[in-house]
Amino acid sequence: MRVEGIVQGVGFRPFVYSLATSLGLSGLVGNDMDGVFAEVEGDADVVERFLVLLEQRAPPLARIERVTTAGLAPTGSAEFAIVASAAAGADGAARRRTLISADTATCADCLAELDDPADRRFGYSFINCTNCGPRFTIVRDVPYDRALTTMSGFPMCDRCAAEYQDPADRRFHAQPVCCPACGPTLTMLDAAGTATPTTGPPGTDPIAAAAAVLRAGQVLAVKGLGGYHLAVDAASEAAAAALRGRKHREDKPFAVMVADLAAARELVEVDDAAAAMLTSPRRPIVLLPRRGSGTGPDTGRVAPSVAPGNRQLGIMLPYTPLHHLLLRTFAGPMVLTSGNVSDEPIAYRDADALERLAGIADAFLVHDRAIHMRTDDSVVRPFRGRETVLRRARGYAPEPLPVPVTFTRPVLACGAELKSTFCLGRGRHAFLSQHIGDLENAETLASFTDGIAHFRRLFDIDPQIAAHDLHPDYLSTRFAQDLTGLEVVGVQHHHAHIASCLADNGETGPVIGVAFDGTGYGPDGTIWGGEFLLADLKGFERAGHLATVPMPGGAAAIRQPWRMAASYLAAAGTAPDGLAVMTRNEQSWAAVLTMARRGINAPATSSAGRLFDAVAALLGVRDAVRYEGQAAIELEQLADTTVVDWYPAAVDDRDPLRILGMDLVRAAAADLVAGVARPVIAARFHNGVAAAITEVCAELRDRSGLGTVGLSGGVFQNVLLTERVATQLAERGFRVLVHHRVPCNDGGISLGQAVVAAARTAPG
Ligand code: ZN
Ligand code: ZN
Ligand code: FE
Repeated sequence: MRVEGIVQGVGFRPFVYSLATSLGLSGLVGNDMDGVFAEVEGDADVVERFLVLLEQRAPPLARIERVTTAGLAPTGSAEFAIVASAAAGADGAARRRTLISADTATCADCLAELDDPADRRFGYSFINCTNCGPRFTIVRDVPYDRALTTMSGFPMCDRCAAEYQDPADRRFHAQPVCCPACGPTLTMLDAAGTATPTTGPPGTDPIAAAAAVLRAGQVLAVKGLGGYHLAVDAASEAAAAALRGRKHREDKPFAVMVADLAAARELVEVDDAAAAMLTSPRRPIVLLPRRGSGTGPDTGRVAPSVAPGNRQLGIMLPYTPLHHLLLRTFAGPMVLTSGNVSDEPIAYRDADALERLAGIADAFLVHDRAIHMRTDDSVVRPFRGRETVLRRARGYAPEPLPVPVTFTRPVLACGAELKSTFCLGRGRHAFLSQHIGDLENAETLASFTDGIAHFRRLFDIDPQIAAHDLHPDYLSTRFAQDLTGLEVVGVQHHHAHIASCLADNGETGPVIGVAFDGTGYGPDGTIWGGEFLLADLKGFERAGHLATVPMPGGAAAIRQPWRMAASYLAAAGTAPDGLAVMTRNEQSWAAVLTMARRGINAPATSSAGRLFDAVAALLGVRDAVRYEGQAAIELEQLADTTVVDWYPAAVDDRDPLRILGMDLVRAAAADLVAGVARPVIAARFHNGVAAAITEVCAELRDRSGLGTVGLSGGVFQNVLLTERVATQLAERGFRVLVHHRVPCNDGGISLGQAVVAAARTAPG
């Protein structure tokens, strides 16, 4: 019998051992490069029962993908044994098919020991077992063995070694197993990186010192699982504001870590679905509505600067013993944000972290277990009771995603630019990397290329095909084209979005794909981003889009949404007196209009993101943004969700269909001048976009006969819009596919590229 899937480092062999012995079966179990193999001997019906229970009672972290069985000649042995790891796989070839599991939050058994004064790991920050602890972030190579992890420098003490070798023990073959006598230790460093002497029982004092730093309103750097975090007292406005200033992170909301569900419920609305996400062993940041629907009631508990003007708050529960101990000692909500300056990747190497975070952190809580793979916190949110991943990283990567195509030849897909990920495909599996960041600087590019090399080694994938975006200037495109000896496949950005949505849902299409985002390279020389594609995995036809408008100043129009307001108002042929957006930008307004009219440095775009920008600027939400999507995010926050009426947008009935987005802007401007409340206008705009999408889908169904719609692209991170669109489409009898396991934003692009490449290069 062979078991494949995530079956190593998750307690699978001891589980097989105890299951077999409890049933009175004899035989053996072991690990090899392919997974777990076992031979069991006994009565046929008992063996049958064994196979049923094998899948039913598998350990919590195991993901069984395939069990294959074959008859063997009985040996007559009465024993059941766990045998040594074999270096080769089932057929003797030294392949690496073993799947490494993701990092996992501290389990209940370990937490109980952490709190038990009689336990030798009482209060120990690195307690873990087969069911929990670091995995992906500490693995250097496979097979998953301690010698190939960053725990290799910590030889086990006799007691740990005994547990490690005892098949009946919870720590049997738990590679990171350790204790205060043999494992990593915590140290507090001051702002200059000098160790601070602490007194008292070993292992406890750095925590107390760190909690004191938080209580004093200072910024604490904490070494976590996948990188360094910066922490402050979430209730302290001064501390949160100082962190914002030093990090140069003016507007993006911070996540907050709280001790437990009860503490989370004091800050945000937690229903059953949200509770399941918060307490899952993956422990993502969960975006949830703040208590009392807004900015009021939780103030005092959470300072205004933590998530300014946001109806939602990103909440997570502790996922390492260190976090548990720190939060208990500090006894309050704690901001926990990536240890970096603005857009750089999260710091994870000790020396680098000390250098980069100098001037930000007042003190460092560090330890001597190295982080091998930089991995950020994941971000999810519930949508209609189901988890929707917005940033896929710690706790999720590198768990492979089953896909609805076969990679007949291994594929490397290089993704896009913002929120970059890469994806390796082999067989029926896609290995999607963790979130890497915006591929715009050398540091992130290095993280991207190192990550690809690591994944190739870890999963033994030697790609023969490289998939990339059509944008010639993306670093990811150039990287793919510079690879020698690989067949390259260019995939249009929005086709990749729709393919990603299909793969996420285990489908192959065809569908009516609605890809709404900020920017994507269009093969016709315009910038796409409000697209209706009749698509399957292989190809697409552009069946509709938002009518194009000029982007005056090109990239400047992305940074300054007021330029899009000017462009859209011009396209709408309206300029009512008294529009504040015009007076605020009086000096350059005429010049921008000229630029738009003459098409000088004003590329045409059908981007939905730019339409949202225009309305946001029109309503005075903001004239300039400091991060991608900011104006649209704030426009959503502004909208009165109880408003159900909408602005109509005409659909120009040609091929491809064109939605006249300028109609929405004209109506919004008229309402604004008439004194209609801004939250009402914001809502009518959202509802108008939803109505137009539904209208076009209905028309395309008439033309194509397709009854399924796939929604993808970063604009669908907008819950209000997605909710409205999904509802209206369902009312009109459509099946609607939305993202769940991979982000609808550009973090999902590489998966889409990979499955498109697989479909296009499949034989026959
Ligand atoms: Zn555990
Ligand atoms: Zn030990
Ligand atoms: Fe996109």
